Amino acid sequence: MSSSDIIRNINDTPDRDFEGRIRPSLFDQFKGQEDIVKNLSIFVKAAKLRGEALDHVLLHGPPGLGKTTLASIIANELDVSIKTTSGPILEKPGDLAGLLTNLDKFDILFIDEIHRLSPIVEEYLYSAMEDYKIDIIIDKGPSARSIQIELNPFTLIGATTRSGLLTSPLRARFGINFHLEYYNSEVIVNIIRRSSSILGITVDTDAAHEIALRSRGTPRIANALLRRVRDFAQVIGNGNIDMAIAVHALDALRIDSRGLDEMDAKIIKTLVHKFKGGPVGINTIATAIGEDAGTIEEVYEPFLIKEGFLKRTPRGREVTELAYKHFAIDRFPGQPTLFD
Ligand code: ADP
Repeated sequence: MSSSDIIRNINDTPDRDFEGRIRPSLFDQFKGQEDIVKNLSIFVKAAKLRGEALDHVLLHGPPGLGKTTLASIIANELDVSIKTTSGPILEKPGDLAGLLTNLDKFDILFIDEIHRLSPIVEEYLYSAMEDYKIDIIIDKGPSARSIQIELNPFTLIGATTRSGLLTSPLRARFGINFHLEYYNSEVIVNIIRRSSSILGITVDTDAAHEIALRSRGTPRIANALLRRVRDFAQVIGNGNIDMAIAVHALDALRIDSRGLDEMDAKIIKTLVHKFKGGPVGINTIATAIGEDAGTIEEVYEPFLIKEGFLKRTPRGREVTELAYKHFAIDRFPGQPTLFD
Protein backbone atom coordinates (compact mmCIF):
# COMPACT_ATOMS: atom_id res chain seq x y z
CA MET A 1 0.00 0.00 0.00
CA SER A 2 1.47 3.37 -0.96
CA SER A 3 1.34 6.48 1.19
CA SER A 4 -1.38 7.92 -1.03
CA ASP A 5 -3.55 4.86 -0.43
CA ILE A 6 -3.06 5.10 3.32
CA ILE A 7 -4.17 8.70 3.28
CA ARG A 8 -6.92 8.65 0.71
CA ASN A 9 -8.60 5.32 1.41
CA ILE A 10 -11.49 5.83 3.80
CA ASN A 11 -13.34 2.63 3.14
CA ASP A 12 -12.15 0.55 6.05
CA THR A 13 -14.45 0.50 9.03
CA PRO A 14 -12.41 2.33 11.68
CA ASP A 15 -11.94 5.17 9.20
CA ARG A 16 -15.65 5.29 8.57
CA ASP A 17 -16.40 5.51 12.32
CA PHE A 18 -13.86 8.26 12.61
CA GLU A 19 -15.47 10.06 9.68
CA GLY A 20 -18.90 9.77 11.26
CA ARG A 21 -17.73 11.45 14.44
CA ILE A 22 -15.96 14.38 12.90
CA ARG A 23 -18.15 15.14 9.90
CA PRO A 24 -19.83 18.52 10.50
CA SER A 25 -23.63 18.24 10.63
CA LEU A 26 -24.65 21.93 10.63
CA PHE A 27 -23.56 24.98 8.63
CA ASP A 28 -22.00 26.50 11.78
CA GLN A 29 -19.61 23.56 12.08
CA PHE A 30 -18.52 23.68 8.44
CA LYS A 31 -15.29 25.67 8.20
CA GLY A 32 -14.27 27.82 5.25
CA GLN A 33 -16.03 28.15 1.86
CA GLU A 34 -17.77 31.11 3.49
CA ASP A 35 -19.56 32.42 0.40
CA ILE A 36 -21.01 29.04 -0.43
CA VAL A 37 -22.19 28.46 3.14
CA LYS A 38 -23.68 31.95 3.40
CA ASN A 39 -25.61 31.59 0.17
CA LEU A 40 -26.74 28.04 0.84
CA SER A 41 -28.05 28.93 4.28
CA ILE A 42 -30.13 31.76 2.76
CA PHE A 43 -31.54 29.43 0.09
CA VAL A 44 -32.36 26.83 2.75
CA LYS A 45 -34.14 29.40 4.93
CA ALA A 46 -36.05 30.80 1.95
CA ALA A 47 -37.22 27.33 0.88
CA LYS A 48 -38.40 26.65 4.44
CA LEU A 49 -40.22 30.00 4.65
CA ARG A 50 -42.02 29.40 1.40
CA GLY A 51 -42.76 25.76 2.23
CA GLU A 52 -41.15 24.58 -1.00
CA ALA A 53 -38.48 22.10 -1.96
CA LEU A 54 -35.02 23.65 -2.20
CA ASP A 55 -33.92 24.12 -5.81
CA HIS A 56 -31.61 21.40 -7.17
CA VAL A 57 -27.97 21.91 -6.14
CA LEU A 58 -24.79 21.03 -8.03
CA LEU A 59 -21.54 20.93 -6.04
CA HIS A 60 -18.28 20.51 -7.87
CA GLY A 61 -14.60 20.47 -6.99
CA PRO A 62 -11.76 18.08 -6.15
CA PRO A 63 -12.37 15.10 -3.82
CA GLY A 64 -12.39 15.54 -0.05
CA LEU A 65 -13.40 19.21 0.03
CA GLY A 66 -16.82 18.72 1.62
CA LYS A 67 -19.42 18.10 -1.10
CA THR A 68 -20.97 15.09 0.63
CA THR A 69 -20.75 16.87 3.96
CA LEU A 70 -22.59 19.91 2.60
CA ALA A 71 -25.32 17.69 1.16
CA SER A 72 -25.95 16.11 4.57
CA ILE A 73 -25.81 19.50 6.28
CA ILE A 74 -28.44 20.83 3.87
CA ALA A 75 -30.67 17.87 4.73
CA ASN A 76 -30.17 18.48 8.47
CA GLU A 77 -30.85 22.18 8.17
CA LEU A 78 -34.00 21.52 6.13
CA ASP A 79 -34.96 18.84 8.62
CA VAL A 80 -35.56 16.26 5.89
CA SER A 81 -34.11 12.86 5.04
CA ILE A 82 -31.32 12.27 2.58
CA LYS A 83 -30.92 9.25 0.32
CA THR A 84 -27.47 8.75 -1.09
CA THR A 85 -26.39 7.03 -4.26
CA SER A 86 -23.81 7.49 -6.96
CA GLY A 87 -23.75 7.81 -10.75
CA PRO A 88 -22.19 4.46 -11.64
CA ILE A 89 -24.51 2.49 -9.30
CA LEU A 90 -27.61 3.65 -11.14
CA GLU A 91 -27.49 1.34 -14.12
CA LYS A 92 -31.03 1.58 -15.42
CA PRO A 93 -33.98 3.96 -15.08
CA GLY A 94 -35.68 1.43 -12.78
CA ASP A 95 -32.89 1.88 -10.19
CA LEU A 96 -33.55 5.60 -10.13
CA ALA A 97 -37.34 5.17 -10.14
CA GLY A 98 -37.10 3.06 -6.99
CA LEU A 99 -35.22 5.80 -5.18
CA LEU A 100 -37.38 8.67 -6.43
CA THR A 101 -40.68 7.06 -5.53
CA ASN A 102 -39.44 6.50 -2.00
CA LEU A 103 -38.67 10.13 -1.31
CA ASP A 104 -40.91 11.98 1.11
CA LYS A 105 -41.93 15.60 0.58
CA PHE A 106 -38.85 17.90 0.31
CA ASP A 107 -36.40 15.05 0.88
CA ILE A 108 -32.94 15.11 -0.65
CA LEU A 109 -31.56 12.71 -3.20
CA PHE A 110 -27.77 12.93 -3.24
CA ILE A 111 -26.03 11.58 -6.34
CA ASP A 112 -22.27 11.47 -5.99
CA GLU A 113 -20.16 11.27 -9.15
CA ILE A 114 -23.13 12.52 -11.11
CA HIS A 115 -20.98 12.88 -14.23
CA ARG A 116 -20.92 9.08 -14.41
CA LEU A 117 -24.69 8.63 -14.88
CA SER A 118 -25.52 6.60 -17.97
CA PRO A 119 -27.24 8.67 -20.69
CA ILE A 120 -30.56 6.85 -20.32
CA VAL A 121 -30.66 7.31 -16.55
CA GLU A 122 -29.69 10.93 -16.99
CA GLU A 123 -32.49 11.55 -19.44
CA TYR A 124 -34.92 9.87 -17.10
CA LEU A 125 -33.87 12.27 -14.39
CA TYR A 126 -34.86 15.34 -16.42
CA SER A 127 -38.63 15.09 -15.98
CA ALA A 128 -38.20 14.13 -12.32
CA MET A 129 -36.14 17.26 -11.72
CA GLU A 130 -38.36 19.55 -13.75
CA ASP A 131 -41.92 18.44 -13.05
CA TYR A 132 -41.53 15.90 -10.23
CA LYS A 133 -42.95 13.27 -12.58
CA ILE A 134 -41.61 10.05 -14.04
CA ASP A 135 -42.90 7.52 -16.52
CA ILE A 136 -42.70 3.89 -15.64
CA ILE A 137 -43.40 0.90 -17.82
CA ILE A 138 -45.72 -1.70 -16.37
CA ASP A 139 -46.39 -5.17 -17.72
CA LYS A 140 -44.41 -6.88 -20.41
CA GLY A 141 -44.90 -7.79 -24.05
CA PRO A 142 -47.97 -6.55 -25.93
CA SER A 143 -49.73 -5.27 -22.80
CA ALA A 144 -46.72 -3.20 -21.70
CA ARG A 145 -47.68 0.43 -21.18
CA SER A 146 -46.21 3.48 -19.67
CA ILE A 147 -47.86 5.28 -16.80
CA GLN A 148 -46.91 8.57 -15.27
CA ILE A 149 -46.22 8.82 -11.56
CA GLU A 150 -46.25 12.02 -9.54
CA LEU A 151 -43.32 12.33 -7.17
CA ASN A 152 -43.12 14.27 -3.97
CA PRO A 153 -41.28 17.58 -4.50
CA PHE A 154 -37.63 16.83 -3.73
CA THR A 155 -34.17 18.32 -4.07
CA LEU A 156 -31.48 16.64 -6.10
CA ILE A 157 -27.97 17.38 -4.91
CA GLY A 158 -25.37 16.30 -7.43
CA ALA A 159 -21.66 16.16 -6.64
CA THR A 160 -18.90 15.88 -9.18
CA THR A 161 -15.16 16.18 -9.44
CA ARG A 162 -15.49 16.63 -13.20
CA SER A 163 -18.12 19.27 -13.92
CA GLY A 164 -16.72 19.57 -17.46
CA LEU A 165 -18.10 16.11 -18.19
CA LEU A 166 -21.70 17.03 -17.33
CA THR A 167 -23.99 17.43 -20.31
CA SER A 168 -25.42 20.91 -20.69
CA PRO A 169 -29.08 19.79 -20.37
CA LEU A 170 -28.27 18.26 -16.98
CA ARG A 171 -26.24 21.21 -15.79
CA ALA A 172 -29.03 23.59 -16.82
CA ARG A 173 -31.48 21.83 -14.52
CA PHE A 174 -29.57 22.81 -11.38
CA GLY A 175 -30.78 26.16 -10.03
CA ILE A 176 -27.91 26.34 -7.52
CA ASN A 177 -24.37 25.65 -8.62
CA PHE A 178 -21.19 25.97 -6.52
CA HIS A 179 -17.53 25.20 -7.03
CA LEU A 180 -15.60 24.23 -3.89
CA GLU A 181 -12.02 25.50 -3.71
CA TYR A 182 -9.04 24.09 -1.85
CA TYR A 183 -8.89 25.47 1.73
CA ASN A 184 -6.15 27.76 2.95
CA SER A 185 -3.98 26.40 5.73
CA GLU A 186 -5.58 28.59 8.44
CA VAL A 187 -8.95 26.96 7.81
CA ILE A 188 -7.35 23.52 7.72
CA VAL A 189 -5.76 24.27 11.11
CA ASN A 190 -9.26 25.03 12.44
CA ILE A 191 -10.55 21.76 11.03
CA ILE A 192 -7.66 19.87 12.66
CA ARG A 193 -8.44 21.61 15.97
CA ARG A 194 -12.10 20.70 15.75
CA SER A 195 -11.42 17.06 14.85
CA SER A 196 -8.75 16.67 17.53
CA SER A 197 -11.00 18.07 20.23
CA ILE A 198 -13.85 15.75 19.22
CA LEU A 199 -11.45 12.80 19.29
CA GLY A 200 -9.69 13.87 22.48
CA ILE A 201 -6.30 14.29 20.79
CA THR A 202 -3.96 17.04 21.95
CA VAL A 203 -2.01 18.80 19.23
CA ASP A 204 0.50 21.62 19.72
CA THR A 205 -0.14 24.75 17.64
CA ASP A 206 2.99 24.44 15.50
CA ALA A 207 2.29 20.74 14.92
CA ALA A 208 -1.27 21.54 13.78
CA HIS A 209 0.19 24.05 11.32
CA GLU A 210 2.67 21.51 10.03
CA ILE A 211 -0.07 18.93 9.42
CA ALA A 212 -2.18 21.62 7.73
CA LEU A 213 0.65 22.62 5.41
CA ARG A 214 0.97 19.06 4.22
CA SER A 215 -2.77 18.43 3.74
CA ARG A 216 -3.05 19.76 0.15
CA GLY A 217 -5.78 22.17 1.25
CA THR A 218 -8.11 19.19 1.69
CA PRO A 219 -10.07 18.49 4.91
CA ARG A 220 -10.29 14.76 4.23
CA ILE A 221 -6.51 14.53 3.97
CA ALA A 222 -6.02 16.73 7.06
CA ASN A 223 -8.24 14.42 9.11
CA ALA A 224 -6.55 11.31 7.73
CA LEU A 225 -3.09 12.70 8.52
CA LEU A 226 -4.22 13.65 12.01
CA ARG A 227 -5.27 10.10 12.59
CA ARG A 228 -2.00 8.66 11.30
CA VAL A 229 0.11 11.15 13.24
CA ARG A 230 -1.81 10.27 16.38
CA ASP A 231 -0.67 6.64 15.89
CA PHE A 232 2.94 7.80 15.96
CA ALA A 233 2.29 10.02 19.00
CA GLN A 234 0.82 7.09 20.92
CA VAL A 235 3.46 4.57 19.96
CA ILE A 236 6.68 6.55 20.00
CA GLY A 237 5.64 9.55 22.11
CA ASN A 238 3.40 10.27 25.08
CA GLY A 239 0.20 10.69 23.04
CA ASN A 240 0.51 14.43 22.54
CA ILE A 241 1.20 15.54 18.97
CA ASP A 242 4.12 17.94 19.09
CA MET A 243 6.17 19.32 16.23
CA ALA A 244 8.85 16.62 16.38
CA ILE A 245 6.29 13.81 16.28
CA ALA A 246 4.33 15.52 13.49
CA VAL A 247 7.41 15.98 11.32
CA HIS A 248 8.64 12.47 12.02
CA ALA A 249 5.24 10.95 11.19
CA LEU A 250 4.66 13.03 8.07
CA ASP A 251 8.12 12.20 6.77
CA ALA A 252 7.52 8.52 7.50
CA LEU A 253 4.29 8.78 5.51
CA ARG A 254 6.34 10.37 2.72
CA ILE A 255 4.32 13.54 2.60
CA ASP A 256 6.79 16.26 1.76
CA SER A 257 6.98 19.84 3.06
CA ARG A 258 4.54 21.07 0.41
CA GLY A 259 2.03 18.25 0.93
CA LEU A 260 3.14 16.30 -2.13
CA ASP A 261 3.06 12.53 -1.83
CA GLU A 262 4.74 9.73 -3.73
CA MET A 263 2.31 9.85 -6.62
CA ASP A 264 2.74 13.60 -7.11
CA ALA A 265 6.51 13.09 -7.13
CA LYS A 266 6.17 10.24 -9.60
CA ILE A 267 4.12 12.41 -11.97
CA ILE A 268 6.64 15.27 -11.88
CA LYS A 269 9.71 13.03 -12.12
CA THR A 270 8.24 10.99 -14.98
CA LEU A 271 7.50 14.20 -16.88
CA VAL A 272 11.04 15.37 -16.34
CA HIS A 273 12.92 12.16 -16.98
CA LYS A 274 10.83 10.61 -19.73
CA PHE A 275 9.42 13.63 -21.49
CA LYS A 276 12.00 16.37 -20.91
CA GLY A 277 9.52 18.21 -18.69
CA GLY A 278 6.72 18.25 -21.30
CA PRO A 279 4.51 19.42 -22.81
CA VAL A 280 2.90 16.00 -22.91
CA GLY A 281 -0.69 14.76 -23.07
CA ILE A 282 -2.50 13.41 -20.02
CA ASN A 283 -3.02 9.95 -21.54
CA THR A 284 0.68 9.58 -22.24
CA ILE A 285 1.51 10.53 -18.64
CA ALA A 286 -1.12 8.08 -17.38
CA THR A 287 0.33 5.21 -19.41
CA ALA A 288 3.88 6.04 -18.33
CA ILE A 289 3.06 5.92 -14.62
CA GLY A 290 0.39 3.23 -14.75
CA GLU A 291 -2.42 5.34 -13.28
CA ASP A 292 -5.86 6.14 -14.66
CA ALA A 293 -5.92 9.40 -16.66
CA GLY A 294 -9.18 10.48 -14.97
CA THR A 295 -7.66 10.01 -11.50
CA ILE A 296 -4.64 12.08 -12.46
CA GLU A 297 -6.90 14.81 -13.81
CA GLU A 298 -9.27 14.82 -10.83
CA VAL A 299 -7.07 14.10 -7.88
CA TYR A 300 -3.43 14.98 -8.51
CA GLU A 301 -3.26 17.53 -11.25
CA PRO A 302 -5.53 20.28 -9.81
CA PHE A 303 -3.34 20.60 -6.71
CA LEU A 304 -0.07 20.41 -8.67
CA ILE A 305 -1.37 23.18 -10.93
CA LYS A 306 -2.72 25.28 -8.06
CA GLU A 307 0.61 25.10 -6.23
CA GLY A 308 2.51 25.98 -9.40
CA PHE A 309 4.38 22.69 -9.97
CA LEU A 310 2.65 21.91 -13.23
CA LYS A 311 1.03 23.98 -15.93
CA ARG A 312 -1.49 23.19 -18.58
CA THR A 313 -0.65 24.36 -22.07
CA PRO A 314 -2.54 23.79 -25.34
CA ARG A 315 0.09 21.14 -26.17
CA GLY A 316 -0.13 19.28 -22.86
CA ARG A 317 1.19 19.36 -19.31
CA GLU A 318 4.50 21.00 -18.54
CA VAL A 319 6.66 20.94 -15.43
CA THR A 320 7.46 24.39 -13.99
CA GLU A 321 10.68 25.91 -12.71
CA LEU A 322 9.32 25.56 -9.16
CA ALA A 323 9.01 21.79 -9.60
CA TYR A 324 12.64 21.51 -10.72
CA LYS A 325 13.66 23.47 -7.63
CA HIS A 326 11.40 21.63 -5.21
CA PHE A 327 12.60 18.20 -6.31
CA ALA A 328 16.18 19.47 -6.68
CA ILE A 329 16.32 18.28 -10.26
CA ASP A 330 19.03 19.70 -12.47
CA ARG A 331 17.17 21.32 -15.33
CA PHE A 332 19.98 21.17 -17.86
CA PRO A 333 22.12 18.19 -16.81
CA GLY A 334 25.56 18.11 -18.31
CA GLN A 335 25.61 21.80 -19.07
CA PRO A 336 28.07 24.03 -17.25
CA THR A 337 26.46 26.28 -14.66
CA LEU A 338 27.53 29.75 -13.66
CA PHE A 339 29.47 28.25 -10.79
CA ASP A 340 31.48 25.68 -12.76
P1 ADP B 1 -16.24 15.21 -0.88
O1 ADP B 1 -17.66 14.74 -0.88
O2 ADP B 1 -16.07 16.58 -1.48
O3 ADP B 1 -15.27 14.22 -1.44
P2 ADP B 1 -16.51 15.00 2.01
O4 ADP B 1 -17.73 15.81 2.23
O5 ADP B 1 -16.66 13.52 2.06
O6 ADP B 1 -15.79 15.42 0.64
O7 ADP B 1 -15.43 15.51 3.08
C1 ADP B 1 -14.43 14.68 3.58
C2 ADP B 1 -14.33 14.83 5.08
O8 ADP B 1 -13.67 16.05 5.36
C3 ADP B 1 -15.69 14.95 5.78
O9 ADP B 1 -16.12 13.75 6.29
C4 ADP B 1 -15.45 15.91 6.91
O10 ADP B 1 -15.07 15.23 8.05
C5 ADP B 1 -14.29 16.72 6.44
N1 ADP B 1 -14.69 18.06 5.96
C6 ADP B 1 -14.91 18.42 4.67
N2 ADP B 1 -15.16 19.74 4.58
C7 ADP B 1 -15.10 20.21 5.84
C8 ADP B 1 -15.25 21.53 6.39
N3 ADP B 1 -15.49 22.59 5.60
N4 ADP B 1 -15.13 21.67 7.73
C9 ADP B 1 -14.85 20.61 8.51
N5 ADP B 1 -14.68 19.35 8.04
C10 ADP B 1 -14.80 19.16 6.73
